[in-house]
Amino acid sequence: MDRHSDRVTARSLDYDAALARAVEHARGWLTALPDRPVPPRQNADEVLAVVGGPVPEGPSDAASVVDELAAAAEPGLMAMGSGRFFGWVIGGALPAALAADWLTSTWDQNSGMRYATPAAVAIEEAAGSWLLDLLGLPSDASVGFVTGATMANFTGLAAGRQRVLTDAGWDLDRDGLTGGPRVRVLVGAERHDTVDLALRYLGLGAPRPVATDDQGRLRVDALRAALAEGTGPAIVCLQAGNVHSGAFDPIAEATAVAHEHDAWVHVDGAFGLWAGASPSLRHLVAGYESADSWATDAHKTLNVPYDCGLAIVADRAAVRSAFGVHADYLVHAEGPGDPLERVPELSRRARGITVWAALRSLGRSGVVDLVDRLALRARQIAEGIAEIDGAEIVNEVAFTQVCAAFGSDENTRAVTAALIADGTSWMSGSRWQGRDILRVSVSNWSTDEDDVSRSVDAVRRAMATGRVSA
Ligand SMILES: *Cc1c(COP(=O)(O)O)cnc(C)c1O
Repeated sequence: MDRHSDRVTARSLDYDAALARAVEHARGWLTALPDRPVPPRQNADEVLAVVGGPVPEGPSDAASVVDELAAAAEPGLMAMGSGRFFGWVIGGALPAALAADWLTSTWDQNSGMRYATPAAVAIEEAAGSWLLDLLGLPSDASVGFVTGATMANFTGLAAGRQRVLTDAGWDLDRDGLTGGPRVRVLVGAERHDTVDLALRYLGLGAPRPVATDDQGRLRVDALRAALAEGTGPAIVCLQAGNVHSGAFDPIAEATAVAHEHDAWVHVDGAFGLWAGASPSLRHLVAGYESADSWATDAHKTLNVPYDCGLAIVADRAAVRSAFGVHADYLVHAEGPGDPLERVPELSRRARGITVWAALRSLGRSGVVDLVDRLALRARQIAEGIAEIDGAEIVNEVAFTQVCAAFGSDENTRAVTAALIADGTSWMSGSRWQGRDILRVSVSNWSTDEDDVSRSVDAVRRAMATGRVSA
C-alpha cells in the first residue's frame, strides 16, 4: 500500500470506529426510551463535574471520546423523545428524519447556494414545495429553513418590516430605522414571548397588545379599534396555536381587517400551522393562506430532530430584499434563487433534508394521521384527567394542548411537583389566565393509548400524594 492509501485507510477507520460506537449508543438510548423514567437523574452541575475540568492535555481517539461522551451524558438526559413527555411543546424524531439528520451531518454541506451544493438545495426545495402543498399555502411562497420558530418569526417580520417601510417611501437599507416612520406592530395579548424577542432583534420595540378572549384568541373588534387609532406602516402578528389553550386567532377575519389598513400579516404557527394539513382540523386556520408570512417548526409537530424551523413568505421579493446579499426590493429574483436569500444565515447546515425524509416517510396520509393523532391523544388525556376527582380541565381542547387545575393554585403546584417526582410522565407547570395549571402538550409521534393511560394514572397518583388540601 502506498502512503496515500495508508492515510485514507487510517482516516476511514477512525470514522468507522467512532460511528459504530455512536450507532450502538443511539440504539441503546432509543431502545430504553419507551420505558425509562422521563426526568434526568442528574442536574447540569453533576454532569459538568464529569465532562468539565481542565482542558485535556492531548488527543484521544475518536471512538473512546464517543464512549466517554455517551456515558457522561446519559444520567443527565431528559427523555424528550418519550411518548410520555408532554412538556413545553417538544416534538420527537421520526425514524427517517433521525437517520437523515445523521446523513446531513455526514455530508456536511454548507447549503446557501444552488450551484455549490445542488443535492442539499434540491432536497430542501422539494421539501419546501411539499410543505406548501400539504399546508395549502401559496405554491410560489419562499420557504427558508431556520433554527426554529423564533427565527422563522424574525424572518417573516423582517420581510414585513422591509415591505411596509418601502411602501411608506422609506429606504431602510440605506437609512436604517432612525428617523423613519414608526412601524406599528399589533399582536394578541397572549402571543408567544419569542414574537417580542424577534421584534427586539428588528429594532421595532415592544408591540401594541390587542385584547384576547378567554381562550387567548385575539379579538377582531379590538384589532379593528387598535388599527384605527393610528396611521402609517403596520404589521399584525397573529397566532395559530396558543401554547396554553392551543386556541387559534380568528385568522381570516383578522387578516381581512389588517389588509384594509395595508398592514403586513404574519402568522406565528410554531405548532398550530400544521392544523392546515388536516382536513378535519383545517377549519382552525381557515383563511390563513391570505396572510403574508408564516412561521412554523418542523421540530415540533413534524417530529424532525432539533433544530428546524420554517420561514414562509408569500412575497419572495420582500424576503430577498431583507436577506439577499445583493438584493434590491424592486428586482425580482430569476428562477428559484439561492437559499441564502431566504434566511438570516449565510452558512448553515442543510436542515431541510430531515423535513424531506419526514414527509417522504409519512406521505400525505401520514401527515394527516400524525396531526390528527396528536389532537386525539390530547383529547384522550383531557378526558382521563377530567375523570379524576378534584381535577378540572380549564381550556377548550381544540388542538394538542391541555391545561388542568387541581383545586387551589397551591394544590396544582403540589400535584405538578409530585407528578414530576413520580417520573412516569412529564408535564410542565405554568400559569395561565391568572391561575396555576398543569400543562400538557402532545407533540410526539409515538405517544400511544398506553402512554395516555399510564400518564393519566400518574396524574391520579400525583393527585393522591401531592394534594395539600381538599
Ligand atoms: C415554540 C414556539 C415558538 C418558538 O419556537 P422555537 O422553535 O423554540 O424557536 C414560537 N411561537 C410559538 C407559538 C411556539 O409554540
